[in-house]
Amino acid sequence: MKLPPQAIQRPYKLMTRKEIADGILEMQFEPEHPEDRIPEFLPGQWVNLYLSNPDGTPFAKAAYSIACAPSDVGADGRLTLGVAMARGFTQRLAALQVGDIVRLQGPFGVFTLPASSERLTFFAGGIGITPLRSMIREALSREDTTPITLFYSCKTMGSCAWLEEFRELAASHERFSFVPILTREEVSDWDGECGRCSAQMIDRHVADANGAFLLCGPTSFMESVIGILESKGVHSKQIHQERFS
Ligand SMILES: Cc1cc2nc3c(=O)[nH]c(=O)nc-3n(C[C@H](O)[C@H](O)[C@H](O)COP(=O)(O)OP(=O)(O)OC[C@H]3O[C@@H](n4cnc5c(N)ncnc54)[C@H](O)[C@@H]3O)c2cc1C
Repeated sequence: MKLPPQAIQRPYKLMTRKEIADGILEMQFEPEHPEDRIPEFLPGQWVNLYLSNPDGTPFAKAAYSIACAPSDVGADGRLTLGVAMARGFTQRLAALQVGDIVRLQGPFGVFTLPASSERLTFFAGGIGITPLRSMIREALSREDTTPITLFYSCKTMGSCAWLEEFRELAASHERFSFVPILTREEVSDWDGECGRCSAQMIDRHVADANGAFLLCGPTSFMESVIGILESKGVHSKQIHQERFS
């Protein structure tokens, strides 16, 4: 029986690896051969990443959101992932060297950029930024005027991945507002918010309850933000979320 294209495990080569924030590794992979490229993905979708043991036997797999936008992907098919280092699987992943081969399968997932919306409001908690980065980069690459706001909650400034990139995107796109939030650190001259996300904090940056609200982060973070949004009259149909666990 022929497998659907998303189900095929395809060899991808590690091209770059860089610790872009405390405990967060940005890894870029390219298909080993042009024909190994995964089918086109939608912003926000994810892939399964399979690791092997040194003797070539299978080790394990884990899901990773594609952190680049479809419009970022060039002829080489290079994909960007952002990985929060945690336990056994991510330790193995972090030990990979440039040139090593993994297998990717996908893309999967229905947490994707809405086709159209009056406004897009994103809430990321920690490593939950990865699918949102893909969606925001894609949305900003399009010729439209939809206002976009990103609330990005991190424990400390050092743990915020792609912080400078989001600041630069906000500086160069009038319709994009970036609200970094620190929950466990006070930093002088901080350009964002401090403390847990609250109704008052959201009111300072988003005028009303219209448009789509897209969330990814720890369960407690998402439950708290959804509770606030619902108390403001946001309908559950306007809320979209991705869970990593
Ligand atoms: C849709 C989705 C998107 C996600 N996107 C991201 C993302 O963008 N970035 C991110 O950092 N995380 C993401 N995650 C979470 C990610 O899939 C992993 O859960 C996380 O990276 C696990 O890290 P860990 O080192 O704690 O894994 P572990 O808990 O060590 O292991 C994960 C799995 O690997 C296997 N495993 C681990 N060690 C062994 C062993 N010794 N022998 C055999 N099997 C073993 C087990 O099956 C285990 O369940 C996403 C999850 C989902 C569901």
